Amino acid sequence: MTSFREFCRICKIIEETTGSLDMTGFVSELFSLVTSEELPIVTHFVMGEIFPAWSDEEVGLGPGLLLNALSRSSGLPLKEIEKIVRETGDVGKTAVKALGKASKEQVTFSSFLDSSVELSIIEVFERFRNIAHATGKGSQTSRIKHLQYLFSSASAEEVGYIARLAIEDMRIGVGEGIVRDAIAKAFNVPVASVERGYMLTNDMGLVAVTAKEGGNEALSDLGLQIGRPIKLMLAQVTPDIETAIKDLGVVAAEWKFDGARVQIHKKNDDISLYSRRLENITGSLPDIVSAVKKAIKADSAILDGEVVAIGEDGRPRPFQEILKRFRRKYNVQDKVRHIPLTLNLFDIMYLNDESLIELPLQERRKFLVASIENNDLVRVDEQLITSDSLQINNMYEQALQAGHEGIMIKNPGSPYSPGKRGKNWLKKKPIMETLDLVVIGAEWGYGRRTSFLGSYALACYDPETGRFLSVGKVATGISDEQLAELTELFREHIISESGISVEIRPHILFEVAFEEIQKSINYGSGYALRFPRLVRIRDDKSLEEVDTLERLEDMYRTQRK
Ligand code: AMP
Repeated sequence: MTSFREFCRICKIIEETTGSLDMTGFVSELFSLVTSEELPIVTHFVMGEIFPAWSDEEVGLGPGLLLNALSRSSGLPLKEIEKIVRETGDVGKTAVKALGKASKEQVTFSSFLDSSVELSIIEVFERFRNIAHATGKGSQTSRIKHLQYLFSSASAEEVGYIARLAIEDMRIGVGEGIVRDAIAKAFNVPVASVERGYMLTNDMGLVAVTAKEGGNEALSDLGLQIGRPIKLMLAQVTPDIETAIKDLGVVAAEWKFDGARVQIHKKNDDISLYSRRLENITGSLPDIVSAVKKAIKADSAILDGEVVAIGEDGRPRPFQEILKRFRRKYNVQDKVRHIPLTLNLFDIMYLNDESLIELPLQERRKFLVASIENNDLVRVDEQLITSDSLQINNMYEQALQAGHEGIMIKNPGSPYSPGKRGKNWLKKKPIMETLDLVVIGAEWGYGRRTSFLGSYALACYDPETGRFLSVGKVATGISDEQLAELTELFREHIISESGISVEIRPHILFEVAFEEIQKSINYGSGYALRFPRLVRIRDDKSLEEVDTLERLEDMYRTQRK
């Protein structure tokens, strides 16, 4: 059994290493060192996860609760803890500092512990699992108690990583790429096999333990599984229809429905629905569940589609209304009546126990059409196979007239690539391109807006350094009602406050429109947006989907042309 202290020792070395080759080496050493039981846990931990992305289990601890637990464990007032966060800018360093102080001033539980009794990796994981499972009345107190237990049983270094794990932000610079290469190195299997295994299972922990126990052969047996959602295939922007045809030749064009993405899993009479962030939303959409059950003529299937809320005027209702349906846990039937949904299916990844993702889109489409019987709520919409730009333009105009976003232009010969944004799926929308940026800060307002957070600081992502880089603020396009909603949404993610400024844990994405991108020395990215305006809150998108610095650079260059 490996101690959590050993895990932290290696994390510290990784944190202090800059080159990704060296980092891969250390991560692979860590993977070789631990037992098969510990390996999946450690794989997720280094990436700052407790559970795999697809899992229903969620720790759900915000910085607020963490700081509260730190205050109780250290005996320091919450205000003092918040001050330390402001100084250090990191919950890990805060925990080390706060609890280090306490040991001089007050006797903690750890003083009574035999120093040879060390926390094990499994024990830390089990505590987090208990935190995840604490629900209902008294759950906050019980979560804080579990955290307090961990803090009081840990050494200074461990305390820092426990705090970071609690908010799932390890800050050691290890992402999927390094983990993939480290698994390959540790267990002597090809990188491509690890990549494939991850694509199909969406679970690096499972891939790691499979590689360790059964090598390449076992990895090649990994496949899609009902109940374990895979990452969705993503689309790139195309400037115009002609360019798309030039790139792809004959294309498959479909309406780009203005709604929200869902992944549907069916096994006999069991239906599960997952959002774009792979949260299980089955309970919130009973109408879609029963319509899907009737529509699918297969024992098992995994499908991809977009749910749309059509208003009385026959046009799609705002995206935020659909998200209200997704988030609803109680009085679901009420929302079913008020915001009726329909589902447009456009892809199929699995049918009757067989994966279809390697088949070309055109073949998958045949299976899709053959296995769905359209009904009032569920349908497979039209797809046009052509290289005639006029025909595609007509389809584009029709989609816009119906109030949808535009069209998707797909490569009919392409496989389904989970989690990939490439040239095989292109999107054409009329409005100026928007950016999906993550909110990293905000300011408390003035006058009647004093109790609302506004003026949101935005950042793009730099994969090279694994950091979020600021690109300015957005304060326009936000209604009073939205301000109240956003303030509630962000409250849980506040890391620290100084005067009217608030630092927010990167978690929620804004889709932002703007007039122009300018060079700027005022922001970390080196760019600023002219006249930014909030288009919508993209709480359907995950942190991985934040636009990159490279995309900003590309947009800057194209606009200058
Ligand atoms: P975006 O959200 O701007 O990145 O555009 C891609 C999104 O369009 C997908 O994630 C889907 O939610 C949505 N979409 C609507 N209709 C389709 C379609 N026919 N094929 C694929 N995606 C679609």
